[in-house]
Amino acid sequence: MNHGRVLVVGACGRMGEQVRKWVGAHEALVLGAALEVAGHPRIGDPLEDDITLQGEIEEALQSADVVIDFTVPEATLHNLRAAAEAGVAYVTGTTGLSSEQKAELKALSKKVPIIHAPNFSLSVNVMGWLAREATRRLGDAFDPEIFELHHSAKRDAPSGTALFLAEAVAEGQNQNLAEHLVLERSGDTGPRPKGAIGVQTLRGGDNPGEHTLYLIGEGERLEISHRSSTRDHFARGAVECAAWLIGKKPGLYPIETVYHLE
Ligand code: NAP
Repeated sequence: MNHGRVLVVGACGRMGEQVRKWVGAHEALVLGAALEVAGHPRIGDPLEDDITLQGEIEEALQSADVVIDFTVPEATLHNLRAAAEAGVAYVTGTTGLSSEQKAELKALSKKVPIIHAPNFSLSVNVMGWLAREATRRLGDAFDPEIFELHHSAKRDAPSGTALFLAEAVAEGQNQNLAEHLVLERSGDTGPRPKGAIGVQTLRGGDNPGEHTLYLIGEGERLEISHRSSTRDHFARGAVECAAWLIGKKPGLYPIETVYHLE
């Protein structure tokens, strides 16, 4: 059996370490290469499976059938451009992309198959499905508010997952998220605007991520929560997506397709 070769980008990061572990555990995949930014102190270090940490994307792509990338938006776009040139499939979980960066990622999916998901956990994606179905059925009598908590090193806010849940709520209520998203409240805010979708962010400690959707009604409240205690489920999901993506035609594939949640 030919194993799919995975290039892990951001290989020494919090997610990159986990991705390498789960690639090693996958029956159809093998670690092909590992990349950090050029100048990283560990470039040249030996990693598992006789792989040496590299700093040049073009070179690393020569040993890859698929890339898994958890880094920062600028790095993701830089490395994705190179993968698109080389014809290598791309899975990324990097969050905090601007709308221009998302548009470029979509344009590059004309050249290679791509999955970009703010959260690779199956249960979080089921939570998104529940959020959409719950708000569709409850209608505007219940006010949606989303809470997210992450470790103190997280760079973007609100989390990509909180925005994904907000989008699911907006779809369930058949409204445009950009017109209803409320990220801050302070001072004399007046009453809650009709249709608002609130998101509140907390940061601290080493928490890998918690999200709760509150649907707040008159005299009752529905809560849907997800709490991570490790990063394994994110990495395992990304590795499953990578195995699924190898050999697919160019295109931007929703993670819901992989998880049969459409
Ligand atoms: P992290 O620990 O800071 O890891 C990022 C790694 O990428 C670091 O090792 C960093 O190196 C490296 N890097 C930066 N620029 C690079 C480049 N140009 N080429 C190669 N490597 C580069 O962050 P993390 O906690 O793993 O999170 C990374 C991203 O994944 C964030 O956007 C986070 O929100 C997201 N995330 C997504 C999911 C999901 O399921 N979709 C789950 C968890 C996290 P330096 O240390 O030298 O900067």
